[in-house]
Formats: sequence, structure tokens, C-alpha cells
Amino acid sequence: MNTGVMNDLRGHHRAIGEELQVAMGRVLSRGWFSMGPEVEAFEDEFAAFCGVTHCVAVANGTDALELSLRGLGIGAGDEVITVPNAGMYSTAAILATGATPVFADVDPRTLTITAALARAQVSARTRAVIVTHLFGRMAPMKELCALARLEGFVIIEDCAQAHGALQGGVRAGAWGTAAAFSFYPTKNLGAVGDAGAVATRDSDLAAQIRRLRQYGWEQKYHSMVPGGRNSRLDELQAAVLRVKLAYLDQWNQRRRRVAACYAEHLSHADVATPTVEGDDYVAHLFVVRTARRAALRKLLSDNGVATDVHYPRLDYEQSSLKSAFPAVHRANSELAAREVLSLPCYPEISLSSVRACCAVINRWGG
Ligand SMILES: *Cc1c(COP(=O)(O)O)cnc(C)c1O
Repeated sequence: MNTGVMNDLRGHHRAIGEELQVAMGRVLSRGWFSMGPEVEAFEDEFAAFCGVTHCVAVANGTDALELSLRGLGIGAGDEVITVPNAGMYSTAAILATGATPVFADVDPRTLTITAALARAQVSARTRAVIVTHLFGRMAPMKELCALARLEGFVIIEDCAQAHGALQGGVRAGAWGTAAAFSFYPTKNLGAVGDAGAVATRDSDLAAQIRRLRQYGWEQKYHSMVPGGRNSRLDELQAAVLRVKLAYLDQWNQRRRRVAACYAEHLSHADVATPTVEGDDYVAHLFVVRTARRAALRKLLSDNGVATDVHYPRLDYEQSSLKSAFPAVHRANSELAAREVLSLPCYPEISLSSVRACCAVINRWGG
């Protein structure tokens, strides 16, 4: 059984070890370690992969969200709609700009935002909606983009869990005005450390984010734009990402196969499985729901199966923010936070261990 871990990054890199060594060796012998030819090449290759014209590499996914907001001129006095069930990343980015997060509830089945749920939170101060494609499942982008045009706000996609997903033949990251990606090692496309990027078709926005990621520089040592900082990407990370990008679609295919195997074999009255069909799901996580989560976690742990909870606490319930949102309640998000349970789902897991895990769950008593 290799369900004893949530991820196997050693196994993930084993098959491409030589290619990675060559890429990293190239960086070492070149002696140029930050924001050089590997970063530039990765930006071009990833923009092409997403089907957009610009990609701006940054230090991590949270910076990608924050610098997208700053690049659009969003800050104090503005409202940004986001969801409360996606790990605090978007909320942290919104708060860092001085803008106010406004929480929309999520669809009870997909756990993502919808146009109707976003519309319920729109006000005269709404400047943007951050749409998180949670667990690898894309939110309904056509409807959300139509609402954005109607109401006059922009959409920023959070694609940190959805690299390579396709809706109506269009990639995650090619729908919004901007799209933030994280390449944290456990993501569908992961570096060997922190890395992130913004994808966009807006050349002015891309240029502004290029300034913001390096102190607001227009040219070296000439800071022209307020709100800049150091959010550079390393050459080593870019070189690794260039190797791995070529495998992303096949890894996503394998992730889907794993998720489909779980969905096919799990059958327990108290355990609800997610929808696994469609190219707009890249199985970043396979998340079931049960009202008896603690008991199921214990059963799986006793049987050597690793689990995790994404995420146990909603953003507006975090201790660091609690006093700021005392009256906020989002019923679907609150129920989901008590019930979600992630099972091991990564490209290298064997289908026999997935079936063994399902058998353990199916035998679970009352
Ligand atoms: C991982 C993640 C991020 C943040 O990315 P970092 O690179 O860790 O800063 C943002 N949003 C979502 C949905 C994520 O899963």
C-alpha cells in the first residue's frame, strides 16, 4: 500500500531525475541564479501552455495574488469578493493590499464560488472577485465572466490547485483578467521550493507586476511604482519547472485516473464522493465528505492510510481575523469545513492501494 502518505515527491521526481540533474547543472555552470534566462524561458513556455500572452514569474502563489491586486490598483477602500473555504491565501493577499475581503458562500456540491453566490456579495465598492478553483475543480467561468462584465469588476483566478485544467477547451488561467499560480512542491506543477506566477493577456498589467516584483523598478535602482517589493524567482526553480511542465498533462491524466478509481470503488452510505468527470477537474485533491469525520480519520489511520483536512477552519473564523468578521456566516462553507476529508491522491499512487483504501472505508461500521 502506498496510501500511507498524502504525497510522494521522491517517487514523483525519480522518473525524471536525470532531466532534473541536467537542468540544475546548467544553472550551476551558468552561474546566474535569479531572474535570468531560465525564468524568461519558463514565463514564455507557461504563458503558451495557458493560452495567454504574458506570464510574470514571482516568488510564490500568495505574492501572485497580492501583486495581481496591486497591479490592478486595488487597495484601501476597495472590496474584493472571495470564498472563506480555501485556506486563507486569497484573504491574506487581499488584506495585505489594504482592501477588504468580502466572503461569498460556495456551491454545496463543488465547493467553489458561482455567479449567483458572487452576485449576492456585490456592492458599489466591489473591484474584483478572486475565483479559487478548489481541489482541482474549476468554478463555472463563463457565468462568472459574464457577471464581471455586467457589474464592472475584474476576475482574478486562483489556479494554485488547477494547473492544466480545461473548461470549454480554455485553460484555467486564461479566463480572468489575471490568474495566480503557485508552484509549491505539492501542487500539480511543483518546484523544489517556493515559486509562483501571474498569467494575463493584459500587457499593461503584466508590465506593472514586473515592476512590483522588484521594488517598483522601472529600470534598475529606479523605483517608480509604490507597493513594490522583492518577489523574484530563482533560476533553479524555473529550470525545474521547465522540465516538469512537459509532463503536467500526463500527470493530470494519472491524477484523474486515481480519482476515478476512488469514485468507482467507494460505496458507503455515510461517505459522499466528489464529481470526478470532466477536463475541468485535475484531481489536485480527492475530497470526500462525512458527518463522522473524526471516526473515519481514526479508522483510516489505524489501517495505515494518511488523510488530511482542506481546510479545517474558514478564513473569517481564523483567530487572527476573528474580531474583523463577527457577523459573517456562510452555511455551505461552514458545513463543508466540518465534513471534508482528503484521501491520498497523487500521480504515483498505485490503483491497488486506492482500492484497498476504498475497501477499508466500505467495511466501516456504524
Ligand atoms: C497553495 C495555494 C496558494 C498559495 O501558494 P503559495 O505558493 O503557498 O504562496 C494560494 N491559493 C491556493 C488555493 C493554494 O492551494
